Amino acid sequence: MSATTTVNWSQAIKPLLKKYKDTPSVLHYHNLYEAVVMVVLSAQTTDAMINQLAPELFKAYPHMEDLAKATDKDLFPYIKSVRSFGQKAKYLTEMATTIKKDKAIPKTMEALTALPGIGRKSANVIMEAAGLKPEGVIVDLHVLRVAPRLGIAQGTDPKKVEQQLMAALPQTEWSVGRAMSMLGREICRPKPLCDECLMNKVCHYFQALKAAQKKGS
Ligand code: SF4
Repeated sequence: MSATTTVNWSQAIKPLLKKYKDTPSVLHYHNLYEAVVMVVLSAQTTDAMINQLAPELFKAYPHMEDLAKATDKDLFPYIKSVRSFGQKAKYLTEMATTIKKDKAIPKTMEALTALPGIGRKSANVIMEAAGLKPEGVIVDLHVLRVAPRLGIAQGTDPKKVEQQLMAALPQTEWSVGRAMSMLGREICRPKPLCDECLMNKVCHYFQALKAAQKKGS
């Protein structure tokens, strides 16, 4: 396939979706409340760090009802290793006093993004954790690297990349964000392992590289 060939992305993406279909989330939450809290804490912080602090935090605050009674400072001992922990504590306590109960956690993009500290990416992650029909595509730093390499989207603006992914694929395939993110963590790293990649036959970056090598040989 040449680098300029038009790709049927809905078909081409299927092996990637299949590969990561049953891969557990990188954040080790056990319910929707934990997912919401961990997603808020994970912005610009490693997932491993959030997974490490989560058990103690949730031992002290096992439900939204408990978190709603906490002050920002009450949370500091549990989250002080996290970047911007003061701001994140504020987001969490404001969110908990708004939502009040686990079962009142919103389940739409509009309602989730109205909460403090939750943007589209976080809302997409939370909706996936809740097993809801996606209203968008998760676009994290890995997806921002992988999608333009593949050629399914262009640019570096997460909102624009998300719109392009939503336009290229049917809603049933919008879980592609998580699959692309996993590919980015494992294979399509900053220095990509293209020879091992199951997307290399349709990948613009790899096909362009091969064409350039052929031309130079
Ligand atoms: S073929 Fe290479 S550049 Fe393309 S998605 Fe795979 S690892 Fe990334």
